[in-house]
Amino acid sequence: MLSDVSNALDIFFPRFCPSCGKKLQDEQMICSDCLSSIEQISSKAEVISKNGWFFNEMFYRAPYKSRVGSVVRTYKYTPHPLLGDFLAYLFLEVFNRFSPPPNSYLTYVPITFKSLKEKGFDHMKRISRLLSKKSGIPSLKLLEVIKQRDHQVGLSTTKRRSNVVNKYGVLKEELYKTSGTIVLIDDVFTTGASVNECSKMLRRCGASKVCVYTLAKVQTKKN
Ligand SMILES: [Zn+2]
Repeated sequence: MLSDVSNALDIFFPRFCPSCGKKLQDEQMICSDCLSSIEQISSKAEVISKNGWFFNEMFYRAPYKSRVGSVVRTYKYTPHPLLGDFLAYLFLEVFNRFSPPPNSYLTYVPITFKSLKEKGFDHMKRISRLLSKKSGIPSLKLLEVIKQRDHQVGLSTTKRRSNVVNKYGVLKEELYKTSGTIVLIDDVFTTGASVNECSKMLRRCGASKVCVYTLAKVQTKKN
């Protein structure tokens, strides 16, 4: 009965693959062609922390120039909140490959009020909640934007770093509820400026360990 309703809805309201635009079948969130072109997770999808980074470890699902990267862009820049479930599943694959430390708490890089108004939803908050359900790791909002800044897109590495300084605040009462071991998720690791600034604030407020996980990572010669 439910599938009849779903089929009828598909006739009147056909759904399309958010990645390539092909018509979707049944309960698909992404078409089978796009699904099969999603890259396998690499055993090298790990970045060892270095001087100047406040997080302890960083893991990612795929390079930014990949099918995963294009799905992330679609989710982030066009209204496709339902893709969040699929992306939470991709995060889960990273957790299965590179396990978060025991007793971790999950949190996410928050977006500005302006972005929230433009998008209509907080894309990482949505993934964090879905990922929490799938992984069993509790999700808490630990960070908030306290200074509205320009978008990071198009800025140089140095500008990106200075642009995020003092941008984020920590919700200390929430942080005190945790074990102090934080899994911080974000969509894309470009220069690492945002996750590093968030990690810095979390560490300053008492977090003992911050592990960063992202869906995509812009590849550079340095890391
Ligand atoms: Zn597709």
